[in-house]
Amino acid sequence: MEDQLNALKLAVDTALAKAATEVEIEAIEIKYLGRKGELTAMLKNLANVSAEDRPRFGSMANEIKRQMEAAVASKRGELNQAKLANLAEQEREDVTEPGTRPPEGHLHVVTKAINELTSIFEKIGFTRTRFPEVEWDWFSFEALNMHKDHPARDEWETFFMDAPESSKMGKMILTPHATNGTARILAEKQLPIRAINIAKDYRRQMDVTHVPMFHQFDGVYVDEGVAITHLRGVLDYFVKEFFGPERQVRLRPFHFRFTEPSFEIDVSCGVCGGSGVLGDKQKCRVCKRGWLELGGGGMLHPNVLKAAGLDPKKYSGLAFGMGVERTYMMKEGMQLDDIRTLYKNDLRFLKQF
Ligand SMILES: [Zn+2]
Repeated sequence: MEDQLNALKLAVDTALAKAATEVEIEAIEIKYLGRKGELTAMLKNLANVSAEDRPRFGSMANEIKRQMEAAVASKRGELNQAKLANLAEQEREDVTEPGTRPPEGHLHVVTKAINELTSIFEKIGFTRTRFPEVEWDWFSFEALNMHKDHPARDEWETFFMDAPESSKMGKMILTPHATNGTARILAEKQLPIRAINIAKDYRRQMDVTHVPMFHQFDGVYVDEGVAITHLRGVLDYFVKEFFGPERQVRLRPFHFRFTEPSFEIDVSCGVCGGSGVLGDKQKCRVCKRGWLELGGGGMLHPNVLKAAGLDPKKYSGLAFGMGVERTYMMKEGMQLDDIRTLYKNDLRFLKQF
């Protein structure tokens, strides 16, 4: 009997040592200490023990039972402790661990283009200026030598504001070009003037090549003795900085109301190198005979200087203007099927820049 009890105790200890879960402990409890367990069965056998041995075995059996129960309780405690420690480890926060970066965006392609244009012109002393987008008719047209009823105004499909008219300044409009900045900065008469106005423009147009809100940059340089050579120099510098050192500028005579003489500004094609033909004698499809249209410019019309109160006999100036979106697309060698894509906020498109 004594050996049996010791063997049982050993069996319980061995089983407990292997147990790793509460379920396993419970199974051991039932198997050995339960109502139909092995110890209970053994205690029933006490009846068969001789009367004189019975008290000794009885107390021994009780002692073994107590030890087994203690072993089970201790194992259970151990397991709970481990569970808590594990939980603490899982929920522990390591403040030195590198964090998860939140998704990070970048500037819109047009904002990037504006920043680049600003920095290019700042290097030759042009200051970036900003002027109202809701503008007087005077600064957008009248001061630029485009008087009321002049047919040239038809080219700018202008939005008019529902606001009182000024007797001197005319109607309020959304400026249809960035050249209002030129008129305004001339009116400030802080000579010499070297300014680049990069601004939003508004026109009543919406199709694959037009959006009702777009951007232009207009440069102006006014001082004594400013000549066409300066215009050529500024444009040469800009084209080489922006498109690359191998690109050329061409000025083609044209007509604008606020400049005289006026030019269309072209840049040599980057695809065919300005030749208009590709290696296999095929005509270049990107350009027209080796050139791409960039914008317009010229020498400020004497009437524009006069409108600003400057003496055209003493001062002269150059001015030029280009579209931000168009110029940037040209640089990227991109042919957008639909310019409206730029403003659709489609990340699949915008992420490419
Ligand atoms: Zn070409």
